[in-house]
Amino acid sequence: MNGMIIDGTQIGNELREKLKSRIDALKERGKPPGLAVILVGENPASKVYVRMKEKACESLGIHSEKFTLPADTTQDKLLALIQQLNHDEKIHGILVQLPLPAHFNEEIVIETIIPTKDVDGFHPINIGNLVLGKPLFSPCTPAGVMELLHASNIDIKGKEAVVVGRSNIVGKPIASLLLQEHATVTICHSRTRSLADVTRRADILIAAIGKPKMITADMVKEGAVVIDVGVNRLENGKLVGDVDFEGMKDKVAAITPVPGGVGPMTITMLMANTVKSAELFS
Ligand code: NDP
Repeated sequence: MNGMIIDGTQIGNELREKLKSRIDALKERGKPPGLAVILVGENPASKVYVRMKEKACESLGIHSEKFTLPADTTQDKLLALIQQLNHDEKIHGILVQLPLPAHFNEEIVIETIIPTKDVDGFHPINIGNLVLGKPLFSPCTPAGVMELLHASNIDIKGKEAVVVGRSNIVGKPIASLLLQEHATVTICHSRTRSLADVTRRADILIAAIGKPKMITADMVKEGAVVIDVGVNRLENGKLVGDVDFEGMKDKVAAITPVPGGVGPMTITMLMANTVKSAELFS
């Protein structure tokens, strides 16, 4: 079997094209969508992600405002900025780049963002609505995984889906979204016994672990669909996923590469959530 390579760059670009006409319509109404991105401190990876988000906004014509605060900013100061943005009519999405320096309580920071501007989808109200099956803003990476499956015409209803990883921002929301689309969902984690026995049952296997090439060919069923969320940098600088792509690409029906699979979808879904917020709430 020659596995289909699911091209996240292309699928992401197609989605961005569709967003452009919605953005134009908002601009015609005098309500251009706006995203505020807050960066605290000097984390190099965070700086790269924030720059990528700004560039995506620029290329789509979304108004963006960046707020850079020093690492020793007090939590009260950050919360005051969020409150100000909560009331700013030009801003429809507020994103605080995580992780924050250690003296911040991330839960309190996220809970301060008004849920209607929580385009990252991390506020407990948005997570709760997702689990209830009526998501407003789904977290961006999980939403991107679902878009990849839809764009690749992969049937979800009634399928065995196995998600490896149970983080609040990736594994758990992906499991909720798959369940909502009628998959039979199993979630695995570091305490799962006989992981390979579980992953071999999967028609759709999602790897969100953070361990380079941990899912090997013998752990997947022939003809499975494999979505690799993992991003791991090896000592030689190469980026690899959680899945041994080369080892299994001829055994599976479809698979995402790393890079070029889930990664490009995450920022696209952030843009989509910002546009949705502007359409619904401005
Ligand atoms: P976390 O570290 O928060 O979660 C990892 C999960 O993997 C945990 O639930 C953990 O289990 C589980 N796990 C760890 N080791 C094993 C094991 N040996 N067997 C089974 N399960 C295991 O990571 P995230 O969810 O934040 O991210 C996961 C990956 O996705 C990372 O590589 C990250 O870089 C990437 N990522 C990619 C994004 C993108 O845009 N492409 C966006 C966000 C993340 P337990 O809960 O028991 O500890």
